[in-house]
Amino acid sequence: MQIITDPSEMQKIAEKLRLQHQYIGVVMTMGALHEGHLSLVKLARQKAGTVIMTIFVNPSQFGPNEDFHRYPRPFEQDVALARSAGIDYLFAPAVEAMYPEGYSTTIDPGPIATSFEGVSRPGHFSGMATVVVKLLGITRPHLAVFGEKDAQQLTVIRRVVADLNIAVTILGAPIARESDGLATSSRNIYLSSDERRQAAVLYRAIRYAQEQIEQGRTDLEVIAKEAEAIVRAEPDAEPDYLCFVDDTTFGPAAKALPGKAYRLIMAVRIGSTRLIDNWSFEYR
Ligand code: AMP
Repeated sequence: MQIITDPSEMQKIAEKLRLQHQYIGVVMTMGALHEGHLSLVKLARQKAGTVIMTIFVNPSQFGPNEDFHRYPRPFEQDVALARSAGIDYLFAPAVEAMYPEGYSTTIDPGPIATSFEGVSRPGHFSGMATVVVKLLGITRPHLAVFGEKDAQQLTVIRRVVADLNIAVTILGAPIARESDGLATSSRNIYLSSDERRQAAVLYRAIRYAQEQIEQGRTDLEVIAKEAEAIVRAEPDAEPDYLCFVDDTTFGPAAKALPGKAYRLIMAVRIGSTRLIDNWSFEYR
């Protein structure tokens, strides 16, 4: 595995790989690698001859009161994990290399970026979309794998790539979970042991909603209220939002209609840690 920090060097390597007819897959991360990231790598490995991983904690997608400075950066450990996962190139630039003096362009993904995570985290999707487009330009992949864990992010990326005519296939990977159902996340390390126990409530709420849908209920708004009550029963859990949306538009969904796809989405604060999770289904 080759480690590259210079964007133009990475670009040159990608260009060379393309001339050699290599099919390039990329997995973009902020590091602090866990099973979720590794499941994306596995998928990329199945589809692509060359796999590039990027590690970049992107300042422009963090709000002023968010955790940019304390975000975990266990670089040596990440290098070892990336190597054993079979990554060919690890691209890990410094902030100054990505945003040199004079840098001024940002991407505005439009209305899709203004609901849910976009409300709680103003500017987040603009910063995220900008760095994703930059990383696509640098790594020149045919395929980019993103996790369904960040479902709204995936929807925004699909929108941006389609709108800007970027020639890359976007693949969504299923959510990797711990044994009690908590979605694996680099932020889980912020949880105290009591908070970690309470954090399993997100998945319990998802399971409850799943059971209700399997029983044939269509009253999504009511099911979401019941699921929210399950979350609130934990003393340190405070939902930011918890609702069903149309899976393609992320617009609100009150009642399930046959043949349509929906997603239960939630952001929940457990103490001072904000966790997100979701579950999608097609109503038959
Ligand atoms: P991050 O490092 O948190 O920015 O995540 C990098 C990529 O990994 C994104 O595409 C995430 O959606 C994905 N990811 C993070 N956690 C999980 C998970 N538990 N399951 C699947 N994908 C994940």
